[in-house]
Amino acid sequence: MKSLKELYRIGHGPSSSHAMGPGIAAQYFKTRYPHALAFHITLYASFAYTGKGHLTDTIIQKTLAPTPTTFTFDKQTKTRHPNTFDILVQLPDEAFTRRVESIGGGAIKIYDEGLSDPVTMYPHTSFKAIEAYCDAHHLTLLQYIEQIEGPSLYPFLKTIWDQMQKTILKGIQTVGVLPGRLQVPRKAKTLYDAVMMDNTPEVHQNRLIAAYAFAVNEENAAGGVVVTAPTCGAAGTMPALLKYVADRDDVPEQIMLEALAIGGLFGNLIKHNASISGAEAGCQAEVGSACSMAAAAYAYVMKMNRKQIEYAAEVAMEHHLGLTCDPIEGYVQIPCIERNAMAALRAMDAAQLASVIADSRKISFDVVVETMYQTGKDLHRKYRETSKGGLAIKYRVS
Ligand code: SF4
Repeated sequence: MKSLKELYRIGHGPSSSHAMGPGIAAQYFKTRYPHALAFHITLYASFAYTGKGHLTDTIIQKTLAPTPTTFTFDKQTKTRHPNTFDILVQLPDEAFTRRVESIGGGAIKIYDEGLSDPVTMYPHTSFKAIEAYCDAHHLTLLQYIEQIEGPSLYPFLKTIWDQMQKTILKGIQTVGVLPGRLQVPRKAKTLYDAVMMDNTPEVHQNRLIAAYAFAVNEENAAGGVVVTAPTCGAAGTMPALLKYVADRDDVPEQIMLEALAIGGLFGNLIKHNASISGAEAGCQAEVGSACSMAAAAYAYVMKMNRKQIEYAAEVAMEHHLGLTCDPIEGYVQIPCIERNAMAALRAMDAAQLASVIADSRKISFDVVVETMYQTGKDLHRKYRETSKGGLAIKYRVS
């Protein structure tokens, strides 16, 4: 597994796989070939279906400007990865094509450029193996992560935590309508204002967590700056729950950074063994993963033990199994924004359940991750970020 720095990334929404990853790839080609006369991009599969709504072409064009860039949306050709595009680079004396895959969370693969993958840092690739190593070396989960990530871990996580809070603050203060044909009004401020209207503790709590999640995901939908946790579409779940508990319990910042490390470890295991890409495995891989990470992080803040933390992450994922990806018109708005709020609330419930019944559980985190991936592969293509099924075809934009 790679560093947590490859999981949590700060960048512009609305999509880590459809906007951030392609933007990073475009920047690479712009820098590597500054004398290019023109570029032509062919977007395949999920990019061809939902690239417009996810602003894939807009981000690539903006990044490559002022070099002229044209696009083809190819919905017929089948590719190995659903988030694939080819870039034809026209130089003064030659032209060639390179293939790019955006594999989720802003990570990309560019073929035939001689680029090496980020270094693998974690020698263990299952929770079971990590547990065994921790037991053998008398380490806590956190000490295990610290040992591998080294001294740069906390300065890095501080920038991540700071950005998560900044995004919430911005989202909560912003009103108006989100970009795109759906004309979705922003609701974070409405929810936040509604917190004070009811003194029932549960209503107060749920509205506040939902307001934070809406704040982040509305910022994301508007192309604002978010942290992939683990993706842009699922960026609101983890910050919403963590910000809520940090304020409620006046949790020291260091504990919040540690919680991000713990949640990140579970996200990394999902990313390595399954997928965090909606185009590859449906929304269970995005919001399901975010819920799992948030549940583990929350359980850590609540001082739960390793078994309870693992169970919290497992429960959170288990009850997202089969969740489809069906963004209307390809915009990361409906159902994405509300879904993050629901996942943040579910993450807290999962951790609370785990605090009591972790000892009698049957399903491990490793098993649920394997199941999620298999379920994702079995999901019909129309439910994997193509906007060809589900809400995306039932709802008609008037
Ligand atoms: S439905 Fe889920 S996976 Fe699909 S774009 Fe929205 S957040 Fe991402």
